[in-house]
Amino acid sequence: MSTETRTRSWSIHGRPEITTRYEILGRVGSGSYADVYRGRRLSDGLIVALKEIHDQQSAIREIEALRSLQGAPNVIEMLEYFYDDEFEEDAVVVLEFLPSDLEAVISDVKRRGGSITPGEAKRWILQVLSGVNACHQAGVMHRDLKPSNLLISAGGALKVADFGQSRLLQDLSFEGTTPYETNSEKDKASNQLTEADYLKELEFIREKSKFEDNASCLATCSTVDIDDDQLGSYTEEPVGAFTSCVGTRWYRAPELLYGSCSYGPKVDLWSLGCILAEMVSLVPLFPGVSDIDQIAKIITVLGNLNEQNFPGCSNLPDFNKISYSKIENPSGLEACLPNRPIEEVNIVKRLLCYDPANRATASELLKDGYFIEEPLPVEIDQLIVPTRDEADESSGGEWDEFRDVGSGPDDIDEFGSNLMGVTKTDKGFCISFS
Ligand code: ADP
Repeated sequence: MSTETRTRSWSIHGRPEITTRYEILGRVGSGSYADVYRGRRLSDGLIVALKEIHDQQSAIREIEALRSLQGAPNVIEMLEYFYDDEFEEDAVVVLEFLPSDLEAVISDVKRRGGSITPGEAKRWILQVLSGVNACHQAGVMHRDLKPSNLLISAGGALKVADFGQSRLLQDLSFEGTTPYETNSEKDKASNQLTEADYLKELEFIREKSKFEDNASCLATCSTVDIDDDQLGSYTEEPVGAFTSCVGTRWYRAPELLYGSCSYGPKVDLWSLGCILAEMVSLVPLFPGVSDIDQIAKIITVLGNLNEQNFPGCSNLPDFNKISYSKIENPSGLEACLPNRPIEEVNIVKRLLCYDPANRATASELLKDGYFIEEPLPVEIDQLIVPTRDEADESSGGEWDEFRDVGSGPDDIDEFGSNLMGVTKTDKGFCISFS
């Protein structure tokens, strides 16, 4: 439909290109930049999620990432999308509908007073690793992995979702196909593009991605972090120049907390370590109330961060602005994961390394003997999958207090309750522990 004859609509309900193809059944959730509706595809009755993304940069990132990940295992499937930049309407991405997520699974297990068995944990972990591996192999760095972004089907299939903060690392080209077989039904349903169309679109998307992203993470950070959309080859080492203010604080890697702008996909592996620990212990591992408190929570468990365990850390932009007193007896990850098998704890340990170079990749972990030792991963259909509503009822709002601060704005006054003393120094602050 041409823009001349169309009337702009601010609501998904007033957009004929969508309402002639989907019946909108109701809103299922809202995120920071999006409203998500349950819909029925009129052609065949398929239930879908219609994600209306209000922020243009997030929309471009989500579409770009999901296009690169078509057919990837354990990654949410994008069926089609509606985006017309000239018309300045919100993008609407049509996704497979997934009624649950890992946050709901954790809340539900907690409500029942149970625990996730080692065999169940192995199946969930295998699925998360497979999804993250697919992202990294396709050159997509997610940057916002957390339990609520790992969506789950009624049958127990887990899919990495919400690519609104992702970045492409690989220079995509049509010389080779994507590493995954494309689903022919999906191709028919989606806006099939020719190579020339795709390259034109990619150029347009890159141009559009050159937004300034001036937020810095730590309140003391004085650097202006600009995601400069530098696309390099996939490497495990830091690439590009990115903003450090990404992701939800509890799952944010130390290099990001210290303001790095040249990090790589290993930031996702740190998040994964936090997620796996939360899944098996049923409580968030590092629930910081500010970025300064976040680092304090981490070092209380893992010990001080220094040149020995993270060579080069003293060059991170904010490293010298905040100093923490020496932690004589860090509690260690074992203490955070009581009664869990040592092999499981070891998987978490391989992810939660200060030095990104020492963090295991998803591909390495998938080959770990842990997954082929007894107890074996349970079958997917043996996993217990609550709906989000069941889990919400069960949590009774108990996590809301945590969640609010987990993603809230950073504030220099929020040092966190476990800190005893804050002293101003000529470079920034010194934090001492009780
Ligand atoms: P944002 O990018 O703004 O954070 P989200 O992707 O987190 O938005 O979506 C908001 C909410 O919508 C989620 O918490 C989830 O409950 C729901 N949701 C998102 N995607 C789907 C989907 N594919 N199927 C079912 N529900 C979804």
